[in-house]
Amino acid sequence: MRKLLFAMSLLIAGNSMAQELPKNYAQLLEKVEPELIQWRRHFHQNPELSNREYNTGKYIADFLKTLPGVEVRYPVAKTGVVAVLKGGKPGAVVALRADIDALPVYERNSLPFASKVTADYDGKKVPVMHACGHDSHTSILMATAKVLHAMQKDLPGTVVFLFQPAEEGAPGNEEGGAPLMIKEGALDNPKVEIGLPLK
Ligand SMILES: [Zn+2]
Repeated sequence: MRKLLFAMSLLIAGNSMAQELPKNYAQLLEKVEPELIQWRRHFHQNPELSNREYNTGKYIADFLKTLPGVEVRYPVAKTGVVAVLKGGKPGAVVALRADIDALPVYERNSLPFASKVTADYDGKKVPVMHACGHDSHTSILMATAKVLHAMQKDLPGTVVFLFQPAEEGAPGNEEGGAPLMIKEGALDNPKVEIGLPLK
C-alpha cells in the first residue's frame, strides 16, 4: 500500500492530475463498475498459465481496440498487450502495469464463476486458477483505461498500459514476463518516464 501511495504521488506530481480531474469522474467510475466485475469473473473462470495467456491477451486487446484513438500493440512478449493513450494536455509518460497469468492451483469453492480449467504443465495435467489476483489486476487496468480514455481531453501526459504475461515465471527455459516485454520495446515509443506497478 505504501508503495502504491508513493507511486500515486509520483503520478500526481508528474502529471498534476489531482487538479485536473473532470467533474464527472465519480460517474465514470460508477459506470465502469459493472463491466469491471464482469471482466474479473470472466478472467477468473478462464484462467491461463504463464506464457499461455492466448485468450486472455486477445480479450484484453479486443477490448482496448474499442477505445478510439488508443494505440494497441498485440501480441507483445508472446501474449501480452501494450496500449498507449495520449492525453489532451502536456505531461509525463506514465506506465500502469497489470499481470495476466494464473497458477497451477485447484479452486476449492462453489462460486458460480469458479475455475474448472485444467491445462498441461510440465507434462502433467494440472488445475488452473487465478489464485494470485491477476484477474483483478487485469480487470482494474482495463477499467482504468476506459475511465482515462473517457477523460482524454483533460488528461495531462500519456498513459502506457502494460498487460504483462508470465509474472509467475515462464515455464522451462522459455523467455517471458517483464524482461521480454522490455526487450520487445514495451517501455519505448513513447519512452516511459514514470512506472506504477499494479500488484
Ligand atoms: Zn502473481
